[in-house]
Amino acid sequence: MERTEEKSDGTGLEVLFPEEGKTAPCCAHGPTLLFEKVGSGGARGRRFYACSACRDRKDCSFFQWEDEKVSEASVLAREAEIQSKRPRFTQEEYRIRFLTFAALPLDERKFCEECQVLVLPAEHSAHSAHRTRTVSAAQLRRPSLLLSPLGNKKSNAQYLFSERSACFLLDALASLGYRKVLCVGTPRLQELIKQRNLQQNQEPMQSLLLDIDYRYAQFYAQDQFCHYNMFNHHFFGGQASRTVLENFLEEVPGQKVVMVADPPFGGLVRPLANSFSLISQMWRRRRRQEPGDSEADLPLVWIFPYFFEPRILECLPSLAMLDYQVDYDNHPLYKHGKTGRRQSPVRIFTNIPAQDVVLPAEEGYRFCSLCQRYVSSLNKHCSACNLCPSKDGRQWKHCSACSRCVKPSWRHCLACSRCALPDHPCRSAGGRGGAAEDGCFSCGSLQHKQNACPLRARPRSSSSGPRARRRSQKASRHAAPPVAQSRGARPL
Ligand code: SAH
Ligand code: ZN
Ligand code: ZN
Ligand code: ZN
Ligand code: ZN
Repeated sequence: MERTEEKSDGTGLEVLFPEEGKTAPCCAHGPTLLFEKVGSGGARGRRFYACSACRDRKDCSFFQWEDEKVSEASVLAREAEIQSKRPRFTQEEYRIRFLTFAALPLDERKFCEECQVLVLPAEHSAHSAHRTRTVSAAQLRRPSLLLSPLGNKKSNAQYLFSERSACFLLDALASLGYRKVLCVGTPRLQELIKQRNLQQNQEPMQSLLLDIDYRYAQFYAQDQFCHYNMFNHHFFGGQASRTVLENFLEEVPGQKVVMVADPPFGGLVRPLANSFSLISQMWRRRRRQEPGDSEADLPLVWIFPYFFEPRILECLPSLAMLDYQVDYDNHPLYKHGKTGRRQSPVRIFTNIPAQDVVLPAEEGYRFCSLCQRYVSSLNKHCSACNLCPSKDGRQWKHCSACSRCVKPSWRHCLACSRCALPDHPCRSAGGRGGAAEDGCFSCGSLQHKQNACPLRARPRSSSSGPRARRRSQKASRHAAPPVAQSRGARPL
């Protein structure tokens, strides 16, 4: 058993990858992941399988001890559950429906807001009691505006890029010469690519969307959408769907591929890194063997909060974090602007050389010639550390006692002999000696860090109560789960 996973540094859960040849049981979201509870002294608990995609048992109730004998009856019940969660139509059927729908006169093109489906004339009566709207040709090309974003805070909340961020990403990738964009959990990016192709004043780009939200299958051809789970690299459409990805990854001269992923923040970093590596391997196998190319990695853009940096770099050391702040349309906290709203903590992690990704000067980003990368306006180069130290966009300051740069709000504490918030639980006062400026990423409490969070210790508990509510306001678009959250995810 390879013990790679979410490293334990307190109480919590680790994800283990099963040995070669040993298969995990499946839930409606494909193969489950194997978890192990780890106690504070490193004591290990009984291992169990749980859903890879859903952090909340309300969304997927699958649970099985590793050594559990499963009865025939529960196998059948599980199978029934999997069947019931299958999409109503095959992708081919969805395609035919779409083409039929697009050919209808405007007043017959109805979208049911309650069922989130395009409704064909023969089906109108079945939705007559539902809220429906007509769909123009332009709206049909913007499914991310038509579909209501999934609001499930824990596993599948959808936060759509602001126009500013989506355009920045696309312009940056286009100017770097990428002509094929693999969109993993980035439906709005795929949409923008298709929009731009229509404008015809630029070289067309190809895109393929991989997403677990199969409502998008209604709008795209088979070679433009794969129903996919990025936590276990599972293709719901089986080999046919896998082949779509393989074909997409094939590069012909002048058609460089790049992958852009924006996973749920509550997601486990290691399983994501694992899936992205597998996609990179697929790409590598498809490449015409050029000398020295066998080691190359698929260019990757992974969008995630800055406080996951240590964890992400541990899993994928070839990535570097850029200063660019990614923001969202439908996230109340992480919107761009000077209106006193919080700055977005979401960043770009990429293996594209940082000096090549030009960040917009009109937003204050500038090039640091010493670091050879673009940095945010307040991120001043520190000659002692010899880097531009800020992670959060604020101006950090150097502490000579710690010999590193720290957040502006921190003070050096002699008792703890390190920098911390002035009101940290100080060793001299008998506290635990751990400042928690940003509090707990799991529950939002300022009293402890995530690795000491009491909520995390309970296996897959459903969350309610004030703490959980606080979490969903604070933590992120996809609030971190109480358990099974990536280690190293503490705010710096
Ligand atoms: N900013 C992106 C959307 C990010 S929201 C945009 O504007 O395009 C996260 C996306 O990941 C959603 O589209 C969601 O459906 C998808 N997603 C969530 N869990 C997933 C999983 N397990 N596998 C694949 N996609 C997933
Ligand atoms: Zn309906
Ligand atoms: Zn610098
Ligand atoms: Zn410094
Ligand atoms: Zn200090």
